[in-house]
Amino acid sequence: MRKSLSSLAVLGLGLTMAGLGTAAPAAASPAAEPHAGFVAESSQSAQSAQSAQSARSAESDANRAFFQAVLESVAEKRAENPSATAAVTVVYDASRAPTFSAQIARSTQIWNSSVSNVRLQSGSASAADFSYREGNDSRGSYASTDGHGSGYIFLDYRQNQQYDSTRVTAHETGHVLGLPDHYSGPCSELMSGGGPGPSCTNAIPNATERSRVNRLWVNGLAAAMDKALEKSAR
Ligand SMILES: [Zn+2]
Repeated sequence: MRKSLSSLAVLGLGLTMAGLGTAAPAAASPAAEPHAGFVAESSQSAQSAQSAQSARSAESDANRAFFQAVLESVAEKRAENPSATAAVTVVYDASRAPTFSAQIARSTQIWNSSVSNVRLQSGSASAADFSYREGNDSRGSYASTDGHGSGYIFLDYRQNQQYDSTRVTAHETGHVLGLPDHYSGPCSELMSGGGPGPSCTNAIPNATERSRVNRLWVNGLAAAMDKALEKSAR
């Protein structure tokens, strides 16, 4: 079971199965693919300051790419139905992360009671703007996109035992909503992730993080809607 889920993660990384043989995704070089992790890449393995810096900038690129992919997915659905007045809804598929269903539901509840300009909603795989997956990965948990609009959050078994699992899930979901990592922040910041250590169990975004998400979804979605409407008019 775990093995097949790991294989899905490999597919999501845009690597071809051919040539990988039976290798698990953990066999890939940790810095090879940009990931928006729960802990800084530099704290996971010994790295020079320079490669740690480039890993961090690759991570923030991955954050932006994921957020853009989700924005585009939501905007394209709204463009098909321009008269929609309902709140902006981001649909997720949690069927491939059954171990974490309670944490995912709690994360959804936290975000939906924290921000007003976007709503998370559980749905089927075909309707989903992104998905949750689970498995074992030496890089821990992360948010990732293949660059073609199919983003997913990977929840790592071991990291979710070491750190508060609801905080990990809500943090990674923060990336979907557009927030970058800020590992040096305090425990009261959700996006400080694993920075404050495993004793930090706060799973709630602070006021700054809330207002940033609200702003991102007003401004970001407007731009993505323009693009989606242009595309559908062609
Ligand atoms: Zn992160």
